[in-house]
Amino acid sequence: MSSTTFDFSRWPPTLTDTQIESLTLHGTTYALFNGLTYLPPGTTQPPSPSSAIHAPISLLPSPVPRSLFVAVQQLQSAYNVLYSRIAMDDDFLDKVMGAVEGAGKVDDFTGTLWRGWKDIRDEGIMQVSAPAFLEPLHLGLFRSDYLLHTGEEDGKLSFKQVEFNTISSSFGALSERAASMHRYLQALTNYYGVSSHLKPENFPANDSTKGLAEGLAEAHNAYGVSSAYILFVVQQNERNVFDQRWLEYELLQRHGIRAIRQTFEELATSATIDSSTRALRITIPSTLSPSGSDSSIEISAVYLRAGYTPSDYPTPTHFATRFTLERSRAVKCPTIPLQLAGGKKVQEVLSRPGMVERFVGETNARELRRTWMRMWSLDDSNLPIPLTCSATPRSANEPNGTTLARALANSLVLKPQREGGGNNVYKNDIPLFLETLPLQEREAWIAMELIVPPRGVGSYLVRAGTTGNNRSDSNGGGKRNKIVRAETVSELGIYGWSLFSRETGVRERGDVGWLMRTKGVESNEGGLAAGFSVLDSVVLV
Ligand code: ADP
Ligand code: MG
Ligand code: MG
Repeated sequence: MSSTTFDFSRWPPTLTDTQIESLTLHGTTYALFNGLTYLPPGTTQPPSPSSAIHAPISLLPSPVPRSLFVAVQQLQSAYNVLYSRIAMDDDFLDKVMGAVEGAGKVDDFTGTLWRGWKDIRDEGIMQVSAPAFLEPLHLGLFRSDYLLHTGEEDGKLSFKQVEFNTISSSFGALSERAASMHRYLQALTNYYGVSSHLKPENFPANDSTKGLAEGLAEAHNAYGVSSAYILFVVQQNERNVFDQRWLEYELLQRHGIRAIRQTFEELATSATIDSSTRALRITIPSTLSPSGSDSSIEISAVYLRAGYTPSDYPTPTHFATRFTLERSRAVKCPTIPLQLAGGKKVQEVLSRPGMVERFVGETNARELRRTWMRMWSLDDSNLPIPLTCSATPRSANEPNGTTLARALANSLVLKPQREGGGNNVYKNDIPLFLETLPLQEREAWIAMELIVPPRGVGSYLVRAGTTGNNRSDSNGGGKRNKIVRAETVSELGIYGWSLFSRETGVRERGDVGWLMRTKGVESNEGGLAAGFSVLDSVVLV
């Protein structure tokens, strides 16, 4: 297999300054023109935007062994089914979130969501059948994230899962455009012949926009009211709006489905539920309705691009609004249980002996497990993993999970129940962090072995300069692009969707598209330090 012979440390091929300049000119122009864009920093909406900047991009795609790429794509359906089944298993989620007094109790944010969902279940409204009322459908637009891992003993590469996202899985539309940009640069310049790998047949297709919009359209169709809208719940100061807008345009153009965007603040006053049908309606000024007279619109599906992080819920009203949406009969992407299923704690629990096997057949379970690093809970006293190191507990009652985390700190990351980046604790920071972490909070954290990506691989990263008039920015200032050649790590995300309920069963697609994101090795999490995180694509090797 070619992957065994590909030398990652020789990537990227060397480009001259003139070649870099030319690729940057063509790449950034393509990006700006084709909506591979963000709103500029400091933009607040409304008012309507007056400018955009190109997304941070890589000039060349990053290498991925072909067989490994195909394997994780093929695995996506099993992941779709797994997480759909978890979201429909109330007892399992209650145990993980509550009965073990774990994440739910010690983590206010997750706990509030979980308790709100329990209250809704206790109200029994979801069972009302008037008329022929079905349990609302769950829609998952998923992204399973992986890093290439170098086997400790044999040095063999495999993909290991970082996490599975069940809410606000972003960058689908932009990743498709990053892939087309690289295809364009190849077609235009042949990358000046610098590498025999850079040819069209090694650039895999990526139709994420179409695939993700199809999931939303299926949800809309299942709801069965063609004039209804899909509601995009968005954050107030979102800069990644174009990634979302592409999905709206696709919904309208290909499927004839309208979308409306609202924040939780707006929904607090605009959203109502019909007491007999449980239909979700949004009040709008009648002058702004396409008919010129309607003062409210019905919502078929709620697509959350907000609501995954505590800062999205600054007041109890924000949570109340989320629960209003949950109570409606609109399809939710995701429902609260599906959001909870994507928690890091669930990921860890699944890795325990016999757990994932409860949800999928033996063969799939084996394949899924092959993509996991070892994980455990900090409060665990009964680790399935032997304490192989010379670990000594800090005190008589210290759980083995914590002792092991302290002893193996240098090859670990600790993760709380959070999404959206910037929450993890790495390596040397772990021992001190453990000193200060209150005993009862340990249950909300998981320890995960660090994936070890190939070293020495690099990329040319391009970021737009600030657009501010007089701002001198530390990166060279002005509006010039910043270009660096950096040693990098690339994270591959595989998209899939699933539409399901206990009544209808699971319908899913695992071939929806993919995302490649690349960052400088210096930063643990796509930070701002020496390198930065860019949108990338894949060259199969
Ligand atoms: P979030 O939901 O905040 O995105 P992640 O689990 O994806 O949380 O962690 C954020 C980042 O941390 C990842 O994008 C990856 O760069 C890094 N990371 C997470 N887990 C690991 C791991 N096991 N090994 C190496 N890096 C990791
Ligand atoms: Mg995440
Ligand atoms: Mg992540």
